[in-house]
Amino acid sequence: MLSEKLLNEINKQIKYELESAHYYVAMEAYFDSQDLPGFANFFKVQAEEERFHAQKFYDFVYEMDGDVELTGLELVGKEFDSCVDVFKKALEHEKFVTSRIYELMEIAEDEKEYATQSMLKWFVDEQVEEENSMKDMIVKLERVEKSPNGLYMLDKELAGRTFTPEAE
Ligand code: MG
Repeated sequence: MLSEKLLNEINKQIKYELESAHYYVAMEAYFDSQDLPGFANFFKVQAEEERFHAQKFYDFVYEMDGDVELTGLELVGKEFDSCVDVFKKALEHEKFVTSRIYELMEIAEDEKEYATQSMLKWFVDEQVEEENSMKDMIVKLERVEKSPNGLYMLDKELAGRTFTPEAE
């Protein structure tokens, strides 16, 4: 059984993960509007990952005999200046999510709630990957900044990205 405080915070996290998906769909749309289908695909897959994150928290709540409470989603932003701007905003957003996961972990530690700590451990590792994948893309984009050919190649490469939830 989860404490009311922890349950509330996990419910908030479900909202944040779904808002992340929403934000990444806005990024997908930006790239589609720029005729960059590979970059659009990157964020389509990213949005799928975020829904998977939300589902993981959702499943955990019911495993722990809690109830999920949904609230309305906000769109964090939908104005982007350039390709690299999108990835910089995505990185900032992932840093926010990381700080949220750490807050949840701190509560679970204070409450000695070991099941929640174990579940959160997966997210701690996942956030390292999420931030790194955005950082990688920023480096790559800065490298090809003034090369339309480089951008085209990168777009082609990203078209192949697919969502594969890892086996647990
Ligand atoms: Mg996430």
